[in-house]
Amino acid sequence: MPSAFPPALERLIKNFSKLPGIGEKSATRLALQVLRWPEGQAAEFAESIAVLHSRIRLCSSCHTFSEQDPCPVCADPRRDASKICVVEDPGDLLAMEKAGAFNGLYHVLHGVLAPMDGIGPDQLKLKELMQRVEQRGGEVEVIIATSSTAAGEATASFLSDMLAEKGVRTSRIACGIPMGMDLKYADKMTLQRALEARIKY
Ligand SMILES: [Zn+2]
Repeated sequence: MPSAFPPALERLIKNFSKLPGIGEKSATRLALQVLRWPEGQAAEFAESIAVLHSRIRLCSSCHTFSEQDPCPVCADPRRDASKICVVEDPGDLLAMEKAGAFNGLYHVLHGVLAPMDGIGPDQLKLKELMQRVEQRGGEVEVIIATSSTAAGEATASFLSDMLAEKGVRTSRIACGIPMGMDLKYADKMTLQRALEARIKY
């Protein structure tokens, strides 16, 4: 079926619909909105996408996205280098930083183990984590903060086994019942984790 839209607009719709959570309807709405913008605003939008790959690289230490290497967190001498918090992706690091509750360093895995999707240990930044740990002679605490999904849990236990072999102190962030949540609405895994992470009175 030929499209009712000119090819240039159709192209933008197609590109928007590649984004997660954006269906054809939303993509069309977004593309039409961009078309309604003044030309300068649309150009600024395009430019912000165009420069991403040339400006942003991975920090060679923690592997988060950064315009500097090392990234500002790794370069900050006030951070406690004896603690490394392992997260799945740069978005998790950002969330932790916004919360301001952690003063150590990070390590971004860039995913979780998903054998069905062909993501094994070699596809994640695991080797790099082991290298960092070895550089510190094992004198480091690794806090595993992967998400509490099945894949996140599998990755956490794989990682803690790997680190235990090297005698590295490892902990897992406690995930459990969110504040204000009714127990009966918690799923099995959440309850299990909440019990495992119980605090002694
Ligand atoms: Zn870094």
